[in-house]
Amino acid sequence: MAGIDILIPPACLVCHTRLGAGQKSLCPECASQISYVKDNFCYKCGSELDEGYCESCRETLFKFEFSRSSMQYKTPLTELMHLLKYSGYRSPAVFMAEKMAESLKDYPEFEDYPYITAVPLHRVRKRERGYNQSELIAKKLAKLSGKTYIRPVVRSRYTLSQTKLHRTQRLSNLAGAFRVRYGQQAQGKKLILVDDVFTTGSTLNEISGELYKAGAASVAGFTATRA
Ligand SMILES: [Zn+2]
Ligand SMILES: [Zn+2]
Repeated sequence: MAGIDILIPPACLVCHTRLGAGQKSLCPECASQISYVKDNFCYKCGSELDEGYCESCRETLFKFEFSRSSMQYKTPLTELMHLLKYSGYRSPAVFMAEKMAESLKDYPEFEDYPYITAVPLHRVRKRERGYNQSELIAKKLAKLSGKTYIRPVVRSRYTLSQTKLHRTQRLSNLAGAFRVRYGQQAQGKKLILVDDVFTTGSTLNEISGELYKAGAASVAGFTATRA
């Protein structure tokens, strides 16, 4: 594991205090601020509510079977996500995958999903960033959970960043953005589609549709965080 140690600086990624022995990525103070998604979520999309299905799932039919998230997209996850996506730090991906592996124990509905895939990044953006952050998370999660990583879908179109778009704009921005390239990899499989953040669910929804077209038996979403 020497390679991973080199990637993790000996200071807290968020507040930069020195880490003690056995501490990784975050100091105890920052780690204590993580909000986990555990109870009380929509059965379908995993959004917070008392029980049953949220308003948006009663109206729109997401194509994925269900979606779950590990943590809330709040401090310190917002800071970790920024480091991962815009500052070239890969170690937050390892941290998030470890948290997701722990969360899998709270979500038995993932048990009979043996395959993991990631939301693809367009090759131009991947070249700019040096890696696909969702792929880093998904590959590590596959390793930790004993599932098999596959990559049946590619991003065929360079899309605008989703962050500044409204819900309907997000959907049209993504239309036709993903293409199944290795369909036989998905055929008949139950797979978990991994992403960093669940915001409106439009990305997971779009890719799920493509995977079903390629013959996937079932697609479930799993994100590190939930906005
Ligand atoms: Zn800290
Ligand atoms: Zn819902």
